[in-house]
Amino acid sequence: MRRISILGATGSIGQNTIDLIKRAPGAYHVVALTGSENIAQLAQDAMALRAEVAVTANPARLEDLRTALHGSGVEAAAGTTALVEAASRPADWVMSAIVGAAGLAPGFAALEQGTTLALANKESLVCAGRLLLQTARTHKATILPVDSEHSAIFQALVGEDISTVERIIITASGGALRDWPIEKLAEATLEQALAHPNWDMGQRITLDSATLFNKAMEVIETREFFNVTPEQIEVIIHPQSLIHSLVGFNDGALMAHVGPPDMRHAIGYALHHPTRAHLPVERLDLAAIGQLDFRVPDEGRWPALRLARAVMAAGGMTGAVFNAAKETALDGFIAGQIGFAQMADTVAATLDDMTQHACLIADTMTLDNVAQVDHLARQAAQAAIANRAGH
Ligand code: NDP
Repeated sequence: MRRISILGATGSIGQNTIDLIKRAPGAYHVVALTGSENIAQLAQDAMALRAEVAVTANPARLEDLRTALHGSGVEAAAGTTALVEAASRPADWVMSAIVGAAGLAPGFAALEQGTTLALANKESLVCAGRLLLQTARTHKATILPVDSEHSAIFQALVGEDISTVERIIITASGGALRDWPIEKLAEATLEQALAHPNWDMGQRITLDSATLFNKAMEVIETREFFNVTPEQIEVIIHPQSLIHSLVGFNDGALMAHVGPPDMRHAIGYALHHPTRAHLPVERLDLAAIGQLDFRVPDEGRWPALRLARAVMAAGGMTGAVFNAAKETALDGFIAGQIGFAQMADTVAATLDDMTQHACLIADTMTLDNVAQVDHLARQAAQAAIANRAGH
């Protein structure tokens, strides 16, 4: 029986993973499930899947979790140390689907036990990509991408020589506000930015889709994971979200991955890799779809793409600055402190401000240094928000 753990089990990716696991009763031994605030879901899944341990990130919720698990035989634990301990328990396959920089330490802990890490937590690659890949090599662990774009690229590269790749084209839906007049973007509300046309995802990534910060993160992820140059990475708006990405080779061939917008495909591919298995996703009827559209993204509308290129050019731990600033700006937008268009301004101001810490950003990449950069960047971003909110 395969031993698996799901970090971020109560979220959108975690629940899609659990959906697949529940369809194969008896195939998996569930080691650990983790969540944060959604104790009822965490306890329900931990009991249904007979997990060894359920962990909430929030120590204040430990008693609630204990009560919900009472008599089930599932261990309850809480806090960041418990998350890392759960991720360190021997498992053959670990899903890394905690949202945000909080997912870094548990993901590294899983790699250190030499497991296969299914990586949805894109922040790990953006903040500490080089260190993550090095840790996997050192511990003979495997990382499989779960982001649909990177799963698509990974699948297009099976059996190929990376040196024959000319370019990688990442598709973007453009998010909820892609057809709004640019001058109206400043007025966009949280509800409007959350109305994603194609994908049903967690709140934060849906908002990041509307700003294209999600795509900016994916560009950086692509550079880190596939070790291509920034110049080889292109972004194209593809409103239908049916082509998940393309790889262009030196003979002019373009390999596209086409499928329905359902994360269970990419999760299932990582779960069954290196084989393929039946998955409960829609089969596309191309004749009924009829048409696929593409257009060049306007960087005036989506400055996040320009910022991603600046981050890659700067190198070092600038990715950690970018992610921390983006997360803080998003919190500011959700809290109503800044408007939609000011999220990119906040990130740009933070990148500028953090040049005063250039030595630290260029220092050796360790988890502690990444955490320090993250901390300083959040402070700088909060100052930028306070500055803007005051105007
Ligand atoms: P969700 O917001 O739906 O879920 C996040 C998960 O992380 C939940 O289990 C949540 O617990 C937990 N969590 C929240 N805060 C903390 C914390 N401080 N410490 C530990 N755990 C915490 O996110 P998604 O599932 O959408 O995304 C997860 C990751 O996958 C992100 O990095 C995202 O960018 C990436 N991703 C998501 C895709 C999608 O389709 N959703 C597609 C590709 C990548 P609780 O809910 O109990 O509070």
